Amino acid sequence: SHAPPQSAEETHIFVSKLPAIPISNDIPLHTYCFQNSSEYPDRPCLLVDGKSYTFAETHLICRKVAAGLSGLGIKKGDVVMSLLQNCAEFVFTFVAASMIGAVTTTTNPFCTSGEIYKQFKASKSKVIVTHSAYVDKLRDTGDESIVFGKDFSVVTIDSPMEGCLSFSDLMAADEANLPEVEIDPKDAVALPFSSGTTGLPKGVILTHRSLISSVAQQVDGENPNLYLKADDVVLCVLPLFHIFSLNSVLLCSLRAGAAILLMQKFEIGALLGLIQRHRVSVAAVVPPIVLALAKNPMVDEFDLSSIRMVHSGAAPLGKELEAALLSRLPQAVLGQGYGMTEAGPVLSMCPSFAKLPLPTKSGSCGNVVRNAELMVIDPDTGCSLPRNQPGEICIRGPQIMKGYLNDPEATARTIDVDGWLHTGDIGYVDDDDDVFIVDRLKELIKFKGFQVPPAELEALLLSHTQISDAAVVSQIDEAVGEVPVAFVVPSIGSELTEESVKEFISKQVVFYKRLHKVYFVHSIPKSASGKILRKDLRAKLAQASS
Ligand code: AMP
Repeated sequence: SHAPPQSAEETHIFVSKLPAIPISNDIPLHTYCFQNSSEYPDRPCLLVDGKSYTFAETHLICRKVAAGLSGLGIKKGDVVMSLLQNCAEFVFTFVAASMIGAVTTTTNPFCTSGEIYKQFKASKSKVIVTHSAYVDKLRDTGDESIVFGKDFSVVTIDSPMEGCLSFSDLMAADEANLPEVEIDPKDAVALPFSSGTTGLPKGVILTHRSLISSVAQQVDGENPNLYLKADDVVLCVLPLFHIFSLNSVLLCSLRAGAAILLMQKFEIGALLGLIQRHRVSVAAVVPPIVLALAKNPMVDEFDLSSIRMVHSGAAPLGKELEAALLSRLPQAVLGQGYGMTEAGPVLSMCPSFAKLPLPTKSGSCGNVVRNAELMVIDPDTGCSLPRNQPGEICIRGPQIMKGYLNDPEATARTIDVDGWLHTGDIGYVDDDDDVFIVDRLKELIKFKGFQVPPAELEALLLSHTQISDAAVVSQIDEAVGEVPVAFVVPSIGSELTEESVKEFISKQVVFYKRLHKVYFVHSIPKSASGKILRKDLRAKLAQASS
């Protein structure tokens, strides 16, 4: 549906200033990640809850778990669902699945039973690795085959549960039983879910090749190892079920030989204590964590001098906040990364390797990664735009997704015939090749970096018998970025209240998708083709709050 640029002269393509790097094309992801690890078998790889696993130990456990999964009947191409907060077992499961050619779909354990079930069905998962605390959610799906079924396994990482297998059994498997599996780099290895530019969440097929390429673009080759180097201790507080943490923290650290400090959830006091105790050198964060680090008075009580880099992504970071953080961590470099699940996910990152030791420019998302091309197109004409002109950011390269699972139409709407992935983000490239994101063309709402797809909430609202039409848009919120608010057309004679609508939604969705406000209206503004005019609704909101 996207018109390609008219002619070669009009095409403005931006690439990294650094030379392209060789990218392994013939090995699977787990081999690539552990490729250099035999040089440093005893170096710490995972630090979690006072325990430490070396690279050699981590690799061995992964092989055992792979043999264990294989023993459960998991085969090449099968899907394993990880329903876990950050923990060592998440890492073991993901790497082990890769080793037997299986695919991991990652799910937020805070999701409701209904949300989990949708992803479970769409991904056709064969096994769910989870914590006993979430088994009730699986029972609540009403699908008895999940917890008690013969063909289906739930593995709990902690205490054994009735009807479930235990992770320690997987870990006890004999690595000699690890089958030899031939893996094509074009095979899927990860299946995160994302709504992309429109509609409901969809499975994003990331192959071995996509993820190897993306990791290589961040930490390989001529890289002066500024983002990650071998003696780094990397903070992993962002949830691994999101691709930013999975790729830029876990996989990049494994590849670079850095230690990964796993934290189950963000809590500022605990986080500061861990940074001090483990001498964390690189912190991958999202803007709300930057806010806490910049503003929380507790920060002054801890020694954070070990931090040399703070890497923020997943949502825009304001300039004021950047400055506030740097005044507290004067020794650190603060850089933003710009990513999108479908793009593998990293499109551009700071500090731009080409420029250091110059400080990064405020508000910039850095330069486009190596071995990739970035183009800015005019959303109205489809023509490519020169520097300093905002338009839709498009990216092309070996790192982008193969496509959406079982959804060729959505894939074709997102990746055009020339291989360009259309992000739905509005941004521009300045004179120094720095990428700036200024707006979002797509409907997506981001709460603390988490995806809130309006279409999903609208579908739920429309399922209410007393609602005849509905639209959901974002409202700016200083603490969390954006929050979803709804415009609702009640059916004739309905007795809806704002509270009842909010509650109807809260019961069905994870906390960050909850509605913050409900406006009752007579109609939803729509275009001639029936599309919700979200801009008009957002303008209404802005008016109401000014
Ligand atoms: P996700 O697929 O959940 O990573 O969401 C991707 C979207 O998050 C992007 O398409 C952007 O809209 C937004 N995003 C990610 N990183 C940034 C950033 N550094 N600045 C502004 N928006 C961002």
